[in-house]
Amino acid sequence: MKARGLSLLSGGLDSQLAVRVLERAGAYVEGVTFSTPFFDCAAAKKAASALGVKLHVVDFTADEIELVKAPPHGFGGAMNPCIDCHATMIRRAGEMMAAFGFDFVATGEVMGQRPMSQNKQALGVVEKSSGLKGRLVRPLSAKLLEPTIPEQEGLLDREALLDISGRQRERQIKLAAELGIVDYPSPAGGCKLTEEGFGRKLKDLRDHEGLDNRELVELLLVARRFRLPGGAGVILGRDQHENAILKDKSHLGVLVAPVNCPGPTAIVTAAGELASSDLELAKALVAAYSRSDRLPGNVVLTAGEVPRPYSREPFKQYQLC
Ligand code: SF4
Repeated sequence: MKARGLSLLSGGLDSQLAVRVLERAGAYVEGVTFSTPFFDCAAAKKAASALGVKLHVVDFTADEIELVKAPPHGFGGAMNPCIDCHATMIRRAGEMMAAFGFDFVATGEVMGQRPMSQNKQALGVVEKSSGLKGRLVRPLSAKLLEPTIPEQEGLLDREALLDISGRQRERQIKLAAELGIVDYPSPAGGCKLTEEGFGRKLKDLRDHEGLDNRELVELLLVARRFRLPGGAGVILGRDQHENAILKDKSHLGVLVAPVNCPGPTAIVTAAGELASSDLELAKALVAAYSRSDRLPGNVVLTAGEVPRPYSREPFKQYQLC
């Protein structure tokens, strides 16, 4: 009887290798990938199709938002709660394992590949907090770790599993060639939470309006951001596409847009009552970014008229990105 494994599949090289190595060790494998506004699952879908495995796509947004509020194991270099994020993904996969009759969950983790999140201690923390003790298989480093239950039960051939460790990727690249894996994205990138600039915006939102409104969180992916002295936030469109998105989301705050000249659309947000001084500043900000140069009079906005002059300079101190 074949072991049935559910393998986390990001689409990266290691996650693809994990699937093929598990198959070589005698398992039937399906993939699972997690989607949030911070990273998409296009690479995982492409990889699943190339590998010929069924892929489960799980919406992970609510989990990820909870984690960035206060991750128990802290953040990586930006607002990326990698250890807890990974452990939670594995826990979700474990719930699916129980629900759908899989024997184990697998990942493409390689011991020592990432100094913070893939050292032996971190791998142990992830296994413990995922609640999957003994049923979490890391096929690329399995021989460096304790045998898991499916290995002990003979459902997985431990000899066919690997002993890769460290940051060098030569063995993985060689193995990929052997196994016919030719298309994989570069190891870095893909998750907005690891980007410093995005992290700054996310932290600002967390500390002001909070992260409970999913639409506000999703808007972090578009537009310029400002935080005004009275605590209000300004989300300012950078082009017609973003302006249209913001118009559509006008229920999230006060919509400010020019009426008598071309210019950006903005949403002004506040955790509590919007300070009138901030609204005046936001109007001046929209006027400063408008094409008012040939306008004979003042800029007229959906929120009122703004007297001249208009300069972007004073607003740079409030700009987050
Ligand atoms: S890089 Fe992003 S998706 Fe991956 S574990 Fe870290 S926070 Fe989660």
